[in-house]
Amino acid sequence: MVIIPDLKPTQRLHVFDLVEEAGFDVTDWVESSNDPRGPKANPKYCYEWSFIQSGKLVILNLWYSAMREEGGLIVQRGNFREDAEYHRTMTRKSSWAKRALRSDDALQIALRDNLPVRVIINDGKQRSRDDPELRPSKVTARELDPVPWTITGYDWKTGQHELTRGIFAQPCVDQFDLDLADKAEPQRTEVTSTPFIRDPAVRRRVLLRSKGKCELCGRQGFEMASGALYLETHHVIPLALGGPDKDSNVVALCADDHRRAHFALARDEIAERLKTIART
Ligand SMILES: [Zn+2]
Repeated sequence: MVIIPDLKPTQRLHVFDLVEEAGFDVTDWVESSNDPRGPKANPKYCYEWSFIQSGKLVILNLWYSAMREEGGLIVQRGNFREDAEYHRTMTRKSSWAKRALRSDDALQIALRDNLPVRVIINDGKQRSRDDPELRPSKVTARELDPVPWTITGYDWKTGQHELTRGIFAQPCVDQFDLDLADKAEPQRTEVTSTPFIRDPAVRRRVLLRSKGKCELCGRQGFEMASGALYLETHHVIPLALGGPDKDSNVVALCADDHRRAHFALARDEIAERLKTIART
């Protein structure tokens, strides 16, 4: 079992070397450099908090101090949009706000395109929010975590995220992920017209519980072009009829069975079976 102190970085390696090690294409980093200290100091890249390589991977810089050990897993929670808002209104450092938003973009792109998430673990003096002076955080050590991370929670409406160290079951997406993610650009406004609020964390947990298989017929959801498995989340007792938005009232179904649950002649009988399934 990993314990947190094992993750504490001891060497202060260069961001350039770490992103290259993770598999990021550094061609433009080198070619667009005109810094006298050399390409590694290229300001276009070297101060960034996250790196997005379309179709390949995203890399996030995370603070060691923000990581928590929970039930044998290493978890980091936060909200990059909130960080951006803080910088926009409080520190008024627009470059910091932009970098925070870029990290939020990285999460959205990783979810949408099912990309691996790599993490550079930073240690040092993290800037305190109470610090009235605009002293930036000071990194004294940073290393690339050899283990990829998984986005185990992301609220598309608020940007609240949960990252967990390690790779978990093949990611699953549902119809609401697609509604929200099917945008050319990352977005930060509520686009759903759903009249009832669905807690994304409930859907996410139910998808994890399903392990990618329809909870009614047991067949695996179809594999999407991104590699993720597609299932649909379904409230056994509809929200409109007062059904709770809780794991115990939500199931993950293949697209066929989801239609069946709504429209089949046997839908009442199906609903009874789903009630039992959702509760177990
Ligand atoms: Zn099914």
